[in-house]
Amino acid sequence: MRVRLVTLLSAALLLVGLNGVEAEVARVSPLAPPPDWSWLEEYQRKLNRNEVLLALEEYYAPGGSAAGYVEVGPSSLRVRTTGESWKELFFLPEGEAGGAVEGGRFWRKAAELGVAPAGKPLLGVRIALDPGHLGGEWAQMEARYFRMGTSRPVTEGDLTLRVAKRLKPQLEKLGAEVVLLRTSDRPSTPDRPDTLRTAAAADLTGSISEERVRSHSELFFYRISEIRARARLVNEQIRPDLVVCLHFNAEEWGEPEMPQLVVHNHLHALMNGCYSSRELAFEDIRSEMLDQLFSKTADEALPLNETVVEALAEESGLPPFTYFSNNARRVGSGAYVYARNLLANRLYRAPVVFLEPYVMNSEPVWKRVQLGDYSGRRIVNGVSCKSLVAEYADGVADGLARYYSTARRQ
Ligand SMILES: [Zn+2]
Repeated sequence: MRVRLVTLLSAALLLVGLNGVEAEVARVSPLAPPPDWSWLEEYQRKLNRNEVLLALEEYYAPGGSAAGYVEVGPSSLRVRTTGESWKELFFLPEGEAGGAVEGGRFWRKAAELGVAPAGKPLLGVRIALDPGHLGGEWAQMEARYFRMGTSRPVTEGDLTLRVAKRLKPQLEKLGAEVVLLRTSDRPSTPDRPDTLRTAAAADLTGSISEERVRSHSELFFYRISEIRARARLVNEQIRPDLVVCLHFNAEEWGEPEMPQLVVHNHLHALMNGCYSSRELAFEDIRSEMLDQLFSKTADEALPLNETVVEALAEESGLPPFTYFSNNARRVGSGAYVYARNLLANRLYRAPVVFLEPYVMNSEPVWKRVQLGDYSGRRIVNGVSCKSLVAEYADGVADGLARYYSTARRQ
């Protein structure tokens, strides 16, 4: 499901320096540590000017949204770091080959994995599956819950977990090493709304009621703190070659106990990008965008998203979703992939395939959720269908097999 806009209004942090003068040190988004900008130095004389310009315009900062934060000159790139400070990075001189960056990415491109044996296109590929949201007892709090009368409730976090559990052995059969970021509805973060009240209240502006603090503390828990905890798992422990984020989409359903069913049903995938200038005002977000850009994650993430979403489109028959808002930009050659800046696809420091198939409150999808998981096919609205979970898992497995069979030969 598309992510609600979070009010990113963390005030600038003020620290009193040794000389007693207050100095602005970092303006960061909620629950983010201030970035250590020293990492930029590794890219001194390593970046190609044209590649940087193209990636900024095509994927990361279309329409000049990075102006005032990232400036591309004839021979160097200037990056605004803390407060009014800037760091200058000289480009690789023209005609010189760029060396590898020490301490850079942990993930491996498909082309670096070597040719796979027949029938095992994913041999040795490390895949993290991220079942979106929490489900279970948290489904109502995270607003991923609705129910028609006394029917089976629709809870996105439980559906995504079922897909992940079905997908794991399918990918293992193809040779992959697969880790799930969660195997139950237990949160990965040790935080709970109560432990986040102070941070959440400090992020609010205007009149601050108890109700606003409560709902903002909940949002800090299930959205921000939880995804940050999963990012630590991905980046520090699992260090996979790619992450597949599994979600289901929805249209506005109104009251959770009296939901509206809609006729639309669609599919899209989201690779990281399309940062707004408002987002880039936060130091941590700026640093994370540059990390994605400099490690050339999009070179792998874009074809991965395209191949997987196309396989899922063939499997499900779903048409592409179209964004009319400016927080997403269509990328690549097909109609299904958009660049968009989400917490998960930004914080996971590996190529991320972020899938948004099926409108859960469209009538056929709702009916298929009611049928649960089953083997074989059943007739829904006159159409012969696999279970929703099986169709989703089959599409993703097929897409990953296709991508790696081709890309490992190059
Ligand atoms: Zn979702």
